[in-house]
Amino acid sequence: MAEPTFRYHPDPLASGSALRTDHVCSVCGMHRQIRYQGPIYGQQPDSLCLHCIHSGAASSALGIAGGGDEDFDMPAVFSDAVDVPDDVPLSVVEEITRRTPGFAGWQQESWLYHCGDGAAFLGPAGYRELEAHPEALAMLRKHHERYGWTPPETEQFLRSLDRAGEPTAYLFRCLHCDTRLASWDIG
Ligand SMILES: [Zn+2]
Ligand SMILES: [Zn+2]
Repeated sequence: MAEPTFRYHPDPLASGSALRTDHVCSVCGMHRQIRYQGPIYGQQPDSLCLHCIHSGAASSALGIAGGGDEDFDMPAVFSDAVDVPDDVPLSVVEEITRRTPGFAGWQQESWLYHCGDGAAFLGPAGYRELEAHPEALAMLRKHHERYGWTPPETEQFLRSLDRAGEPTAYLFRCLHCDTRLASWDIG
């Protein structure tokens, strides 16, 4: 069966959020070839397939049941929605957090947005990967300027970014204007 495709996470195998391995998904009980290995903010299944993320079944099945009068159930999410711009529809935020594979960072990572939409997550990136995308580097420089870093401190930091180590940057692509965006964690 064809693997599902995700608008906001085009290649979960390449980004490291999924692994090619035979398994039985804990949510649908099916034999699957690709296993999700990103974060789940909810109940932790033994094994999870991408089909169940795509359909929303995993978000519902792994949610945390609320207690008390309100009986408010929290669906499981795979990434955080932080600093979402006002022009991004709630439906987009729901698709990204509940029906899109997340990605593991050193901290709890949040998605990036551009042009009124969620951006596509491409994967972790080091300085070498970012060098090809000056606009992504410029974005990181601007962040650091805001935090009061001097230019030499910032350049030293950027050069220490490592795809597999710490600190790591996370590369996104705007689905509308193609601008590359980057976030990072300081570790
Ligand atoms: Zn499944
Ligand atoms: Zn854009």
